Formats: sequence, C-alpha cells, structure tokens
Amino acid sequence: MLGNGKIAVVGAGLSGAVIGRELAQAGYQIEVFDARNHIAGNCHTERDTETGVMVHVYGPHIFHTDDTEVWEYVNRFQTFMPYKNRVKTTSNDQVYSLPVNLHTINQFFSKNFRPEEARAFIDEQADKTIDDPKTFEEQALRFVGRDLYEAFFQGYTQKQWGCSPTELPASILKRLPVRFNYDDNYFFHKYQGMPENGYTDMIGRVLDHENITVNLETQFHRSQNRDFSHVFYSGPLDGYFDYEIGQLGYRTLDFERFTYEGDYQGCAVMNYGDVSVPYTRITEHKHFSPWEEHAGSVCYREFSRACRREDIPYYPVRLIKEKEQLADYVSRAERETSITFVGRLGTYRYLDMDVTIREALDTARFYLSKKAESASMRAFLHTPV
Ligand SMILES: Cc1cc2nc3c(=O)[nH]c(=O)nc-3n(C[C@H](O)[C@H](O)[C@H](O)COP(=O)(O)OP(=O)(O)OC[C@H]3O[C@@H](n4cnc5c(N)ncnc54)[C@H](O)[C@@H]3O)c2cc1C
Repeated sequence: MLGNGKIAVVGAGLSGAVIGRELAQAGYQIEVFDARNHIAGNCHTERDTETGVMVHVYGPHIFHTDDTEVWEYVNRFQTFMPYKNRVKTTSNDQVYSLPVNLHTINQFFSKNFRPEEARAFIDEQADKTIDDPKTFEEQALRFVGRDLYEAFFQGYTQKQWGCSPTELPASILKRLPVRFNYDDNYFFHKYQGMPENGYTDMIGRVLDHENITVNLETQFHRSQNRDFSHVFYSGPLDGYFDYEIGQLGYRTLDFERFTYEGDYQGCAVMNYGDVSVPYTRITEHKHFSPWEEHAGSVCYREFSRACRREDIPYYPVRLIKEKEQLADYVSRAERETSITFVGRLGTYRYLDMDVTIREALDTARFYLSKKAESASMRAFLHTPV
C-alpha cells in the first residue's frame, strides 16, 4: 500500500467533509486539502462585518431533501431552523410569485380563475402544434404558451445560460413548471431548513475529528497521489488532468454587494426576468435568518457569465460539445488508480447539497466495504444530470 495508509481528500466542501468524516470514524488518517482560505466550498457562509448578517458568500443555499438519513445526518452537526424558500420575480415592473402558480396566473392575466379554470386556460395557451419539442423554448411554449414564456422563462434563461433558449435542450424543462394552487413554497421536499449558525459552522463540525487534518490555502496536484493510499478528489475533473484536452464549459457568477438601512426587498430572493436588467436576481441575505434581527441589510446582485480558467466554476454547461469532451475526461479518469472523483466538480454535474451528502456517504461506505479498487467506484461519473 502506498502512503502508509493515509487518505487524501481534495476539497473541504460538503463532499470532502462527509467522506473524510466517515473514513476518520472508521479509523483512517485523513489529510484534507483546500485551495481556498476557508472550508465549506461553495456552501460557505460568513458574517458580514458591516451589518452582522450571515451571508451566503457563493450564492443562496437552501437545504431541502426527502432523504431522511441525510436530514438526520445534517441535524447531528447543526440545529436546522424552519425555513421555506419563497421566490418572487420582477417582470415588466410587476412583482409575481415563482414558480408560476395560481396567484401568478390570475395577476398576470387579470383574472380570478379557480384551479380547474386556470388549468383549462393554460391548456388553451399552450402551443399544441409542437409535438416533439427539441429546444427549451419549444418545450416552454408547449407547456405554457408565449405570454408566460416571455415573461417568466425567456429572459431569465437567456441571462443565466448566456445563449438563446432556442439553443438549449428541451430536457432542461422536464415537466410543466406551473402550479394550479396558491402554494408559493419553491420546493416540494419533506424537509427544508437553514442551519442556525450557517453552513461553514456545520461543515466545521463535520471535519472536527481527531483523525482529520485540514490544510487550507493548499492546492493539491495529482503528482502528490503517490503519498497516499487513496485520493478522494472533489476538484474539477478537467483541472485534475491539467486541462489537457481543454476546459469543460461552466457558467460563473459575479456578485455586486450593496448595503441598505432596513429591508431592501422584503424577501430573500428576487429574480429579474427582463433581459433589459443585466442581473438575474438580487439576494437579500438577512431574510435567510428570519430568527435574527439586523437593522442594516446586505444584498448581492447576481450576474451570470461564461467561466474562464481563473474564475470559480458554478454551473456545468452540458451541451453537445461538453458531453464529447466529458466522455474523453471520464475515460482518462477510469484509467487512474486509487482515486475516486466525487462531488459537483469531480463529476461535472449540478448537485444539490442533499444529493452531494448522499453520494458522499455512499462513496465512503463503498470504500469501507473493501471494494475500493473496483471500477464501479467511478459510478457517479456516469450518472446523468
Ligand atoms: C449558485 C448556487 C446556488 C446553490 N444553491 C443550492 C441550494 O439552494 N440548495 C442546495 O441543496 N444546493 C445548492 N447548490 C449546490 C451546492 O453548492 C453543492 O451541492 C455543493 O457545493 C457541492 O459540494 P462539493 O463539496 O461537491 O463542491 P464544492 O463546494 O465546490 O467544494 C469543492 C472544494 O474543492 C476545492 N478544490 C478544488 N480543486 C482543488 C485542488 N486541486 N486542491 C485543493 N482544493 C481544491 C475548492 O476550493 C472547493 O472548496 C447551489 C450551487 C450554486 C452554484
């Protein structure tokens, strides 16, 4: 065995922390590396020094899941406060509820439909000439018709992905994105909440184990693999191979911070659907902690753009070109030994936090069941988004 049985975990985000903890509890010595100066990866939260508000530094994070084991897992490390995500959107100078629900429909069309009337009305709006939608736009038109599409989907999607919805696959919009009741809870999951002291505090507790050493501001390179018996790598898949066949496409985000005395927008997240507004949304962080009181407020305007090598990768763009490149990187990954690619960057997928934890727990258990060298350790690399 290489590296005296020591295991390297690259990345101190949720993936790395959960895998590290599970293996540390089983008696392994774990060396965690993170290039950043903080733990928690993109879930990182910190108090704003000016206002005292807990800020979601890399964008808003709401914990929601149907997975009871994962819910119990996070509650071991943090008290979760009740929190419901209720998103609003501004379109053409009007504020609406999102996802589109009965309130949105009645307000938008100046009607007072009951649920079945609204359903019949939207059915009439839907473009029934589209039998086999190929693009996002065709799918949306087929579901909700042109008026709702233009107000709530077209502009936002264009800003978010930096291309026309006619260039995006229909699969992005899997089912009818409309509710025929007044439910404005963004998520359907059984459990939803916000960690009382933030995600970084929670992940700090996950990493707090005598067998775990955390090295911050320490970039890991694959040449270090030989020092360890196994490496769990939650960094970017293309970065691991020094971008030998190019960079996988990502969108990155820029945040423009501003402060306000009082309550700026009355909710945590306000989307902006119009293309004339350059940002996609404004997050007002103090609404994520409704149990706290703060006179001042801190808000982020969020801008989406193509990710360059030096930027932080946020959302994987999985269009045809990226899928071909990804297949090439995956085959290289499969030829590597004693390394498991995990997490949102290591497997080039958008993963919610609960799915990240589920996969991390399963990965650690698989390793502990002594099948570590099996090819199926790479299973998540092939899991579709
Ligand atoms: C804008 C946005 C909003 C989101 N909102 C939600 C939400 O509301 N609810 C939800 O459930 N999920 C949400 N998510 C998803 C959530 O962020 C992910 O589930 C989570 O961050 C995945 O954790 P991870 O450990 O896999 O990756 P990361 O958090 O990205 O951690 C990877 C870490 O690896 C480090 N690293 C990379 N390469 C190296 C290297 N070579 N050497 C050393 N360190 C390295 C990085 O610095 C980073 O800290 C959101 C994601 C985004 C982008």
